[in-house]
Order: sequence, then structure tokens, then C-alpha cells
Amino acid sequence: MPDPSNSPDVIVVGAGLAGLMAARGLRRHGHSVLLLEARNRVGGRVHATEPAAGCRVELGGQFLGPGQDRAYALAAELGLRVVRTRTQGSHLMETAAGRVRRWRGMIPRLGPAATLDVAFALHRFERLAATVHPDEPWNTPRADRLDGLTLAGWIDRVTRTAGGRRMFRLAASAVWAAEPEELSLLHALFYARAAGGLRAVISTEGGAQQDYLAEGAHQLARRVAADLGELVRLAEPVDSLSRTDQGVRVTSRTGRCWDARYAVVAVPPTLAARIHYNPPLPADRDALLQRLPMGTVVKTVAVYPTPFWRVAGLSGQALSLAGPIAAVADSSPPDGPPGVLVGFVEGPAARTHLARPEAERRSAALDGLARLFGPEARQPLHYLEQDWSGEPFSRGGYSALFPPGAWTQLGPALRRPTGRIHWTGTETATRWYGYIDGAIRSGEQTADTLAGLLAAGAGG
Ligand SMILES: Cc1cc2nc3c(=O)[nH]c(=O)nc-3n(C[C@H](O)[C@H](O)[C@H](O)COP(=O)(O)OP(=O)(O)OC[C@H]3O[C@@H](n4cnc5c(N)ncnc54)[C@H](O)[C@@H]3O)c2cc1C
Repeated sequence: MPDPSNSPDVIVVGAGLAGLMAARGLRRHGHSVLLLEARNRVGGRVHATEPAAGCRVELGGQFLGPGQDRAYALAAELGLRVVRTRTQGSHLMETAAGRVRRWRGMIPRLGPAATLDVAFALHRFERLAATVHPDEPWNTPRADRLDGLTLAGWIDRVTRTAGGRRMFRLAASAVWAAEPEELSLLHALFYARAAGGLRAVISTEGGAQQDYLAEGAHQLARRVAADLGELVRLAEPVDSLSRTDQGVRVTSRTGRCWDARYAVVAVPPTLAARIHYNPPLPADRDALLQRLPMGTVVKTVAVYPTPFWRVAGLSGQALSLAGPIAAVADSSPPDGPPGVLVGFVEGPAARTHLARPEAERRSAALDGLARLFGPEARQPLHYLEQDWSGEPFSRGGYSALFPPGAWTQLGPALRRPTGRIHWTGTETATRWYGYIDGAIRSGEQTADTLAGLLAAGAGG
């Protein structure tokens, strides 16, 4: 039975950044709130660890960029220091055959025809993305056609050279941690639109990878949680939400349960689908939750005594068609001395990688780094991998993918509350969908909406 002395106005499920901001916002509006988190830590897809004393590395969401105003505002409020991602020096590009070339700017040098091809495809993509309805992608002009195509189909149709096609596909799998066959063109366009364009998504300077927080993005979550104190309950995986006369009863797998006037589900769609609902969810909401898988990503972290690549005039940024690590960035702490290279293994390459024994994975990843940065890269002080698909309360990353048909057939069910249950999280954001900023915005907005309903004494 629920404890009647502990029946808050709102129970929030999931202490990622969205859930934390929803809880914080509701408390600031003067409402009572409880936040239930399945893991024994807060932060969800932002997470850090210390492979050695004083050496902290980020295993999840990390970078920020212009336009992510809510993330910067929260960082400033919490006293976190924004640092520029290093871009000085040449970037590297490894071909599928293992040839490594240096490049600068936004797009690697591919030869004149392929470079033009990529620039033209990017231009067409940006023009199309600008037509997407930012709040209701299903109301975009020609939405049915755009949502009936995969991103892969569009790339094949628009690119004219094999090199250009390979480069566009590499960029797509780096952005969505999936092959372009796995998502609808409309979703790719919406995602870019929500970020202010694909250039903003793929760029470091002036784009989504421009900055990071000296103390780590996980501190956004930790500090908000510290402020909420005992209102955050860890190790309470929510199992069911049931309608009651007064609101919602929330039951955890631990057997504990609570009654509240409203519930906010702040977990990715694929995890919302694993919660039991009584009465069952409306058909459109349930069908939507069955269709939104996460991308597949392994984040690798290699820590070296120094950022040795800088001596060779390298920025630490690299792309590789040979893999397994497809994209690399310099994530060394701003005040030195260790050098840190973070890498991303994405989509099918990540699934193949994960099927190998740990020792093989490590040597394949370090061999890849050594082909790019030289033999020193094979000898890190620490090497770590974070497999997000192996995390039962994330099941992948960076975010949920809409396959063809999902936005146009079921999109309106994404944010519509189900009675007294409201839905939030980066996957509900209309700006910076899939990003830290989107999570923060969605949580803040949900708090405002619910505060309005509570003030009006509204039922559901
Ligand atoms: C490897 C990686 C790199 C990334 N890089 C960047 C980046 O550089 N910049 C950027 O902006 N974004 C990045 N992202 C994306 C960003 O981290 C996410 O968009 C954001 O953190 C999502 O926040 P959220 O609160 O919506 O969801 P989540 O962080 O997923 O939070 C959901 C919470 O709900 C909990 N939960 C799940 N099920 C239950 C249940 N049944 N009961 C109770 N609790 C439950 C989970 O444990 C989790 O704490 C990255 C993500 C990954 C995985």
C-alpha cells in the first residue's frame, strides 16, 4: 500500500537531465515532487568515471554548442566552466583501404568531384530541413513522401559520386549511431532542423561539438540532484503506472508504491514501453513506443600521459572508414596533463565490435587509433569502453530513431499526455532533439505545463 504521508503532487520517473529539470521546475513552482530513478546514480545518458584517482573521463553526453541556450544557462547557474573543444591543427581521415590524409575545415578533402558532390548534397539537405515543421514534423509539406523514404534512399538519389556517397553515409552514421537505412528522411530532416541545420550538428567550431564543461556534463545532473536531496530516490525501477480516483499510482520493482496527482515519464521511448500501464496506453501511443529503437553506440576513451598528437600538428579529430572507431575527438582536460582521445563506434560496426571478446575489441580499437595517430596511440595509460546498448536503462544511444512512417502515422502521440501521465525527455524536444539541451528544455517545459494544470486544479 502507498504511504499516505508521502503522496506528492507529481512523481517523476527517471533522473536523467529531463526528469531532474522537471522535478526541479515543479519544486520551484511550489509543488511537492518525488523523483524515482532505476539506476543507483543520476544522469542517465550523461555519465563519468575515474579510471585512476584524479583522472575523470566522460562516457556519455559531453559536448555543447551555440544555440543550446538552456544547457549553457544551467551550466552557468551551477557554476560550471565552459571550455572550447580544441580544433587547432589538422584533422585526419582514414579511407576504407587504410590510407590516412590530413584535412582542415568541415568536410575532409575527397577529390574535387566528391567534395562538390558532398557540398551540393549538404546544401539540398539543409534546404529541405528548413521546410520541416519544427513542432509537428507530420505537418511538414510533403511529409508523407519525406517519411516514406529512408535517409539512405535519399543519399543514393542525390549523390553522384561513390566518394561523396560514402562520406555522406559516414556523417549520417556518426550523427545517428545507425545506418541511414534505419531512419526516415523526415526524421533526419527534423533532427537537423531542431538543431538549426546539419552543419550545426556536424561542426565543432560554431556547431554542437564546440564546447564542453571542465567539470564534466555529468555535473549538470549531479548538482541538480544534490539540490533536490532526498526527493531523488535511487534504485527504484518503476514497473507500473495505474490510474486511481485521485491520479496515478506508481509501483517500483522493489514493491514500494506511491500515489500522486500526476506522473511524468522521463525515460527514452523504448524504456517507457517496458513499463506496465493500467489501463493500457491508447493504441497510437503504444504503437509509437514499439517503433522507436535507440541507435547503437560504444564510446571509447584512451588516456595518455600527454596529448602527444598535438606535437605533430594534429587536432585529435579524426574520421575513419576502416574502423572500428569511426570518429575521434580530443577530450583532454583543459588544465592538463593527460591526453584523452574519445572515440565512437556506431551502428552495425558497434554491434560487430561488441560480439568480439574484450581483449580483441581493445586491440582493434587501439590499432585503429595507432593507424591514425602513430604507434604511441597503442600504449594508453587507461582504455575504457562504454557500451550503451548493454545498459538496461538506456538500451543504446545517442537517441531514439524514427523509422519510415512513424512521424506521419504516430507523431501526434509523442507528446500528448495520457490522462494524468505526461511524457518528457530529449526525445520529446522540439529544439535539439537527442541532445543534453533538448533534455533540459523538455523537462523545464513539462514542469511549466504541469504547474499550470496543478494551479488550475485540473484533472486529466
Ligand atoms: C555516448 C553518448 C554520447 C552523447 N554525446 C552527446 C553530446 O556530446 N552532446 C549532447 O548534447 N548530447 C549527447 N548525447 C545525448 C544526451 O546524453 C542525451 O540526449 C540526454 O542525456 C538525454 O537525457 P534524458 O533525460 O532525456 O534521458 P536519459 O538520460 O536517458 O534519462 C532517463 C533516465 O530514466 C531512467 N530510467 C529508465 N527506465 C526507468 C524506469 N523504469 N524507472 C525509473 N527510471 C528509469 C534511466 O536510468 C535514466 O537515468 C550523447 C549520448 C550518448 C549515449
